[in-house]
Amino acid sequence: MARYIFITGGVVSSLGKGLASAAVGALLQARGYSVRLRKLDPYLNVDPGTMSPFEHGEVFVTDDGAETDLDLGHYERFTGVAARNTDSVSSGRIYSTVLEKERRGDYLGKTIQVIPHVTDQIKEFLDVGGDEVDFMLCEIGGTVGDIEGLPFFEAIRQYANDKPRGQCIFMHLTLLPYIAASGELKTKPTQHSVKELRSIGIAPDVLVCRSEGPIPKKEREKLALFCNVRPDSVIAAQDLKTIYEVPLAYHREGLDTAVLNAFGMGSTEPDLSRWEDVYDRIFNAEGEVNIAIVGKYTQLEDAYKSVKEALIHGGMANRVKVNVDWVDSEVFDTTDAAPHLEGYHAILVPGGFGERGTEGKIKAAQFCRERKVPYMGICLGMQLAVIEAARNVAKLADAGSEEFDHEAGEKRFTPVVYHLKEWVQGNHTVKRKSDDDKGGTLRLGAYTAHLAEGSKVAEIYGTTEIEERHRHRYEVDTKFRQQLEDVGLQFSGMSPDGSLPEIVEWKDHPWFIGVQYHPELKSKPFEPHPLFASFVKAAIENSRLV
Ligand code: GLN
Repeated sequence: MARYIFITGGVVSSLGKGLASAAVGALLQARGYSVRLRKLDPYLNVDPGTMSPFEHGEVFVTDDGAETDLDLGHYERFTGVAARNTDSVSSGRIYSTVLEKERRGDYLGKTIQVIPHVTDQIKEFLDVGGDEVDFMLCEIGGTVGDIEGLPFFEAIRQYANDKPRGQCIFMHLTLLPYIAASGELKTKPTQHSVKELRSIGIAPDVLVCRSEGPIPKKEREKLALFCNVRPDSVIAAQDLKTIYEVPLAYHREGLDTAVLNAFGMGSTEPDLSRWEDVYDRIFNAEGEVNIAIVGKYTQLEDAYKSVKEALIHGGMANRVKVNVDWVDSEVFDTTDAAPHLEGYHAILVPGGFGERGTEGKIKAAQFCRERKVPYMGICLGMQLAVIEAARNVAKLADAGSEEFDHEAGEKRFTPVVYHLKEWVQGNHTVKRKSDDDKGGTLRLGAYTAHLAEGSKVAEIYGTTEIEERHRHRYEVDTKFRQQLEDVGLQFSGMSPDGSLPEIVEWKDHPWFIGVQYHPELKSKPFEPHPLFASFVKAAIENSRLV
């Protein structure tokens, strides 16, 4: 049975609880333990799939097709452990399961209450897979004291009490504000946050305190005394230059030792060579390239979190620093794109939904095709590259996507991208209707693609069969395949039955690839995704030309 580490937060949100959890996972792995990380989100949406990126940042998709919180991306990037559907849960999902059970009559006439029915459902979720790993790390979203979070806090309190002593510990992340006028780090908000936690029956074993600088001995002792933790379990989490420094920095502060001590486990020496190499590649880069992400949600970097990280990993693979710029495509929807795009060594058009800003992205694809600038199109970015090819090269002037016609409520385009209503998953056929619910009805999760021998992508991947994660409702229509291949756009990756285009590439271009899936979701700092590594390499080569 796994040992459980519950990670909670206080004082303010956005302290990097997800990263701290991921770093603890990585540090435990470095000591030879197996880990799994899990996120419990108090909001009432069943999953973040239907939320706007402005609300919640990127939706991270798992191999088994769950639409989850972006923190699961951090977990995967730091531990390399593929997340599953059962690693992300929200109040909405817990409540809908409880209500389904109630309708079925599973509760045998009982009155359904938060305690015990909702908390039992949460505990059931915590148990899943507990026999597979040494440590299960469970992060509770939000901050202590939030109304929606209460059932989760109650459930983890009960859970620790249900288990044998010493099987569960609590780690609490807070902020120590620095008051410049008095030159002091303030411990009071942390004291209050711990008091709040203790009032619901949870006493933290490890306190991780975010601060701009180091925590002086006096403040550390004060925190230990007032929050009832050992002084060596008060861990300073200082602001760092890059997130990939976090495991090494937290190790230096003694976080992994404090966690193991809380379980009464002696500490062995960790093997941190993986993180030392990552650090070396970031801080000893031998050049830089400028890459633009041309998208719609550019004000909110979290919307394309994994894309940005994957580009950084691609830089690490080539030992260069990647400077990422966010370019809003709407700005040049109706004007010339060139002034906005010139000077970048490569351009990436990421996934997205809806028509807004797409004309600008189509222009970005055209700019890259004509000027031989490396282009990576992901999901919508691939669909738009196909539309560009159809309009401007294959001379199908009114080519477009059904997605935009649906949105506008009128038929304006020849749909080279259509609404996919039936596809094969494993050994069954998935069927969808136009008026299906929005939640969970996309083509989601890992699917296999076959790559054409001799294509650029086959060379990049070093194989002709790959498996990548998907999240889309629309699909490039094979009806136009011949027409597009005749003008040089090769359909170099297809679903195993040949019905769904997975990859397109321009034959006479140094690097122009569009993929229907999301390669960014599988990239890791210590294992950069081959497409991103190759894309950044192409950007470096292009930078030598300009
Ligand atoms: N909106 C497009 C579709 O549903 C692309 C989705 C995406 O980029 N993730 O197919």
